[in-house]
Amino acid sequence: MINPDTADHLLLDLHTHHPVPQPEAIVSLDPAQLPAEGAYPGQVYSAGIHPWTLAGLSIPADRLSALRQAVMRQDVVAVGETGIDTVHPGCVTMAGQLNAFRQHIELSEEVGKPLVIHCVKGQDIIAGVRRDMLPRQAWAIHGFRGKPTVMRMFADLGIYVSFGIRFNSDSLLQVPAHLILAETDETSGRIEDVIGALNAVRPDITPELLHANLLRFLTPL
Ligand SMILES: [Zn+2]
Repeated sequence: MINPDTADHLLLDLHTHHPVPQPEAIVSLDPAQLPAEGAYPGQVYSAGIHPWTLAGLSIPADRLSALRQAVMRQDVVAVGETGIDTVHPGCVTMAGQLNAFRQHIELSEEVGKPLVIHCVKGQDIIAGVRRDMLPRQAWAIHGFRGKPTVMRMFADLGIYVSFGIRFNSDSLLQVPAHLILAETDETSGRIEDVIGALNAVRPDITPELLHANLLRFLTPL
């Protein structure tokens, strides 16, 4: 559930790594980096083990139990980022990434919180896992810069697509309005700048639309 304290702020940013507090954003952190509960009243987080930080074939027991505890917190409203990266140098094997991805999905289903996904040329694997596991919770691909064909594959599976300051305009123009999210991720700008850039390409993208989509994304299924 969303922390009721956030109701005063317009939650707009699916995914940021900017330092807390970020009242408009879901701050994405490794479980080991989460501030103590209540340290920043109203702040919400997502917690996950980034594929870049994995080693070996499975998540070590201590990291997995920290993740499990983190995603049960009231102020942790989503699971991730997790996902598949077939490009980043030094990433763990595909089997290791896939195991970790599946464990995040299982936790997301267990606690009834949506999944935030890192995807770098991993779209076929991610779509395949969604078809195999048939999860109930919502998924979002964060930082989407792909082509319309890739966007369409995700949208056809009901997966949200989150855009940052750099994006493919054709994909943005074609994505169904109810699946659009926005984010700042690691870029230095503000979410308002991202929304302005999206709105310049597609005028129906407004803070109101993004807020409504983000709240729907966060509603447990
Ligand atoms: Zn990120």
